[in-house]
Amino acid sequence: MFKGGVKLLDFKELSKSEEIEEFKYPEKVIIPLSQHTGAPAKPTVKKGDTVVEGQIIGEAEGFISSFVHSSISGKVVSIENYPLPNGRKSLSVVIESDGKNEKIEGEKKDWVSLTSQEIIEIVKKAGIVGLGGAAFPTHVKMSIPPGKKAEFVILNGCECEPFLTADYRVLKENTEEIIEGLEIISKTTSVKKSYIGIESNKIDIAEKIERAIENKKTEIDIELKILPEKYPQGSEKHLIKSITGREVPSEGLPIDVGCIVFNVQTTLSIKRAVCDGIPLTERVLTVSGLVENPKNLKVRIGTSISEILKYCGGKLGDGKKLVIGGPMMGINIPSPDVPVIKSTTGILILPEENLPETIQPCIKCGKCVEVCPMNLVPAFISKYAESENWEMCKNLNVLDCIECGCCSYVCPAKRPLVEFFKWAKAEIKKRKI
Ligand code: SF4
Ligand code: SF4
Repeated sequence: MFKGGVKLLDFKELSKSEEIEEFKYPEKVIIPLSQHTGAPAKPTVKKGDTVVEGQIIGEAEGFISSFVHSSISGKVVSIENYPLPNGRKSLSVVIESDGKNEKIEGEKKDWVSLTSQEIIEIVKKAGIVGLGGAAFPTHVKMSIPPGKKAEFVILNGCECEPFLTADYRVLKENTEEIIEGLEIISKTTSVKKSYIGIESNKIDIAEKIERAIENKKTEIDIELKILPEKYPQGSEKHLIKSITGREVPSEGLPIDVGCIVFNVQTTLSIKRAVCDGIPLTERVLTVSGLVENPKNLKVRIGTSISEILKYCGGKLGDGKKLVIGGPMMGINIPSPDVPVIKSTTGILILPEENLPETIQPCIKCGKCVEVCPMNLVPAFISKYAESENWEMCKNLNVLDCIECGCCSYVCPAKRPLVEFFKWAKAEIKKRKI
């Protein structure tokens, strides 16, 4: 188990028992060409073109980039800049539905006979990225760099952010397919031992997972690990520590300690792309918090968040805020007029917090140091960030901060610690310190 972290009220009972429901076919979608880590995709369609669901509308530009597909059938009405849920803008393809609901028929394949390179190419062309929120292109993660070796594949079923239950439902409702996805990843990366990590608040699906493991198709050894509920158990580095005891070095990557970690929905998307020829055009997300009907919805990429909120009875105003993602690491956004993108894990309406109007001084209580799962000293780093001393922030390893929010959560002075660290990281990168 890792040091630090916090025990949070999880509020998962609001949506945990809600079966995944398919959200209505949208009349219009806004599909950003930059919804992943790396270079934006290059548009392959133009205004006036007719498209069908699953058709490529954006081509990956380089290795760290991703393909983008249409999520409906219809007509491209414009290609212009639109705001994303993360506040940035991206060139986006706007498509209006023609009501025909046509799609590209996927080609079924027996993955056992495919080479690793063929599988990685399929994953790339299917536009698959990390669906846990990071949106890192999955074909890159599956391509083990020269000189490195993957020993363990870890399926991350923790979903440790409060309120979110989409991954839990996906794992519960698609267990066999996800185990097959895990086998595909393990074979592609030449790994013989894989783990599935879930927190103890999902113990009710453990038996189903064990049964699916017994029915697996290959000799790959898959082991289920039930982990204690502690935030941020689902962070890659902490999951690796909890399961294998290995520590990812400062500024290092999981592959540096022989591990690669995949999210539940990413793994399912890999299985469907490889076996059924289905590209990534939809995802499951949780709508919860102060909404009348909390749900786990399967939503087409590009669907308006505003429409989803209306459907679930979510109203803003009166001291309420809109958060995209979980309450700890999610982003507070001013308007719901943005589209769902591949990394949208949740849509939450939460009460506004009463934050001090000015930044309060640190009272040196040490609580932030106790909870930091990265062994940082948030109190010191925040002081140096406040005085814009970026060298000292770097020396105190701010680049290792995973922005989990544990320090801000416990700080009695309500100092905006994570905001300081995001700022410091951006300045260090910009100034190449
Ligand atoms: S946000 Fe960064 S500094 Fe704060 S607890 Fe998490 S890792 Fe530590
Ligand atoms: S928790 Fe807040 S007040 Fe306490 S030491 Fe850390 S920054 Fe200072």
